Amino acid sequence: MRAIRADKDAQLRLLDLQNVDTTLAQLDHRRQTLSQHAAIARLRTQRAALASNLVAADTAISDLEVEQAKAETDLEPVQERLNRNQARIANGTVADAKALSSMLEEVSHLKKRISDLEDAELEVMEQLEAAVANRETLRARISQVDDDLIDTIAERDRQLAALADEMARLRTERAELTTLIPDDLLALYGKIGASHGGVGAAELRQRRCTGCQLEINAADLRVFSAAAEDEVLRCEECGRILIRTSQSGL
Ligand SMILES: [Zn+2]
Repeated sequence: MRAIRADKDAQLRLLDLQNVDTTLAQLDHRRQTLSQHAAIARLRTQRAALASNLVAADTAISDLEVEQAKAETDLEPVQERLNRNQARIANGTVADAKALSSMLEEVSHLKKRISDLEDAELEVMEQLEAAVANRETLRARISQVDDDLIDTIAERDRQLAALADEMARLRTERAELTTLIPDDLLALYGKIGASHGGVGAAELRQRRCTGCQLEINAADLRVFSAAAEDEVLRCEECGRILIRTSQSGL
């Protein structure tokens, strides 16, 4: 492996760059996993279900309205016939006792028929009343879900904007840091990071690689202690660039 050299400050800037990149990755993860994303999806699913129920409720209401109108239409001719018969009985125009008896029987039959039709109509009206109440409930719930959606979307956008600002600030900082790091070291950092979860460089801290968290063995420690300041070290365990600091314990 071709040895890379970089002065101490440049190596420390690489550690700063790693911190910036780690923070950027965390912010990007937060951006994608905001709780509002799931909440908005849940609310939209709820709203679609409620809208579909509302269509069903509208259909039920118009069906019941048709049924009620029909019940009233059915009632009219029976009621008219009853009125006519009762008028004839009252004004004494039915002279024949047999005809009168037959008419009285019909009146009784018509009254029963009217009572049955009125019961049926009443039942339809009760169903209609319940269907209208159900539609009102659905409309109120849809309105509530719409309000919740507006609030949640606003909160999501507020958080996304704050994250975007923070990420833009870090990208500027990143661009400045990269000008302080030699290209070959930067390229190596990028290559290792791509295959090591975005962590290409790690601090050697208390004789431990903070990239893989493993302790450096005694032989490697001796090599690291003897290495020149501008020599770029690599962790023997994870392969990451190891940066020496005052905390390295060498
Ligand atoms: Zn390591």
